[in-house]
Amino acid sequence: SYTIGVLALQGAFREHLEHLQRAVAAADLAAYSFSLLEVKTPEQLAQCSALVVPGGESTSMSLIAERTGMLEPLREFVASKPAWGTCAGLILLASEIHNARPHQKALGGMDICVARNAFGRQLESFEEACDFSDFAPGVTAFKTVFIRAPVVSAVRKGADFVSVGPKKMHRPNVCSFQEGEKTLTSFDLVVKAECENTAPVEVLHSLPNGLVVAVRQGNKLGTSFHPELADDCSFHHWFVKEFVVGH
Ligand code: GLN
Repeated sequence: SYTIGVLALQGAFREHLEHLQRAVAAADLAAYSFSLLEVKTPEQLAQCSALVVPGGESTSMSLIAERTGMLEPLREFVASKPAWGTCAGLILLASEIHNARPHQKALGGMDICVARNAFGRQLESFEEACDFSDFAPGVTAFKTVFIRAPVVSAVRKGADFVSVGPKKMHRPNVCSFQEGEKTLTSFDLVVKAECENTAPVEVLHSLPNGLVVAVRQGNKLGTSFHPELADDCSFHHWFVKEFVVGH
């Protein structure tokens, strides 16, 4: 039996729980038993066999995690167990965050570099029908929703980080903040975390313009978009089969 947790500190966790509920009811998963859990405490996290980190706001999520004593337990969890981050969750799972905000923390579950708010103002939010069937059998014409989404800009290959996607990013949506007397922008603010994931990083999906929006590293999955906001649980179903039951 499997317990799938959804981190419920902030953001779109209810939608993930609803989609998972529908996904685990599929006939081809009837042989397994699943419980779903809203995760707010280290005790709840300890019960989970896999964790979904939802979209929302990555800085708020990491601040709440710190305040509630969840940061270290989350780091330990994602160092070994299956996890999936969507949007802000992908930012949290990364080992390097560019265009970060001050005090933001990374969990370092995947050895990737993400750029926050990478689509610029014009393209802050949009939808796109994507065909994911080359890695997720049967998931075609899937409505992906992007909301102030990050992209994966580099991934670990052997000893190096190599950039992925187009050389020139879309204009990132930069924010400014005060540090003492100085007004700084987030553009050059980079936050890093140790990462123990040694599995190869696979780029699962790029948009037609080359921006990388879905990656996998071993039992970790990261998507820039929000499958929990589509009226379709096929992506969650694939996650459960491939990452929860498969590991
Ligand atoms: N821009 C948000 C962040 O940096 C992510 C947005 C989202 O999760 N939809 O955390």
